Amino acid sequence: MGDLGVAVSAVQAHNARKHYTCPGCHGTIPPGTFHLVVVPDDEPDLRRHWHQGCWHKETRRLLGKS
Ligand SMILES: [Zn+2]
Repeated sequence: MGDLGVAVSAVQAHNARKHYTCPGCHGTIPPGTFHLVVVPDDEPDLRRHWHQGCWHKETRRLLGKS
């Protein structure tokens, strides 16, 4: 989906029940935190949980490369 070839979906705070590590800042996303799940279209097993702000930075970085 979109230019980046990924599907991005939001995880609402009340649905976030685990700790995740954000690949953008390598920080923890604690339970109860609104965040994003990013799944590459061609590699559905590689889903990653991102802080919203970190993903926005990453999209700017990715789009800036092309
Ligand atoms: Zn982060």
